[in-house]
Amino acid sequence: MRKKIVAGNWKMNLDYNEGLGLFSEIINMFKDEATGKQQAVICSPFIQLHSLAQLAKGYTNVAVGAQNAHQAESGAYTGEISAKMIKSVGAEYVILGHSERRQYFGESNELLAAKTDTALKNDLKPIFCIGETLQEREAEEHFNIIKSQLVEGVFHLDETDFAKLVIAYEPVWAIGTGVTASSDQAQEIHAFIRIEIAAKYGQEIAANTTILYGGSCNPKNAPELFAQPDIDGGLIGGASLKSRDFIDIVKVFN
Ligand code: PEP
Repeated sequence: MRKKIVAGNWKMNLDYNEGLGLFSEIINMFKDEATGKQQAVICSPFIQLHSLAQLAKGYTNVAVGAQNAHQAESGAYTGEISAKMIKSVGAEYVILGHSERRQYFGESNELLAAKTDTALKNDLKPIFCIGETLQEREAEEHFNIIKSQLVEGVFHLDETDFAKLVIAYEPVWAIGTGVTASSDQAQEIHAFIRIEIAAKYGQEIAANTTILYGGSCNPKNAPELFAQPDIDGGLIGGASLKSRDFIDIVKVFN
């Protein structure tokens, strides 16, 4: 049975104390309200990772992740953070390939393949993001785009490593816009992703791969999205900055 996951992406929001305060609220609500049928992951800015990982100790279904990691193991890369550093503070996950990194920092599929390798070598679980822009969807290129992001980004992995990934389908036109993909649109792509995984790695790995939906997901639309057979949870941006909203999304899996 594949894991149901609700992951929050705080992006570049919240100072150190604000982040700790929000995380404390989230874990208290999680303890009181979630059944544990799901995993909650908070992907915070680097500065809070160690403290949040400490607070998460003792909660088997709450984990912490980073939002990016460098592709090199270490070295003269001023200002960068390595996968080993992230792992050393107690984080379990790392978001790779978020559309904001692709768009604003020029991250290519090739670079993301290298980042994925280094993250896995350091025992981090990548939440690997893929998704098409509005232009690509309007040009009916979305299936090709998704396929090439998978093939060039992660299909070089062997079966053992691929099985450690979480895939997040995030249509770029739905991120931070308030426009959500309809449950049919999201399911169509999730099913396509699972078919592509099955063709490459076989049915068993495909059936066990967690595929998250991301893009203006909120407590109102999450129940319908998460009811789709190939949607295993969400990657949540804006709504993860409010403890009540985030926990209400988590509770869809209760
Ligand atoms: C995201 O940034 O991954 C995201 C899904 O953002 P939002 O929920 O705000 O659309």
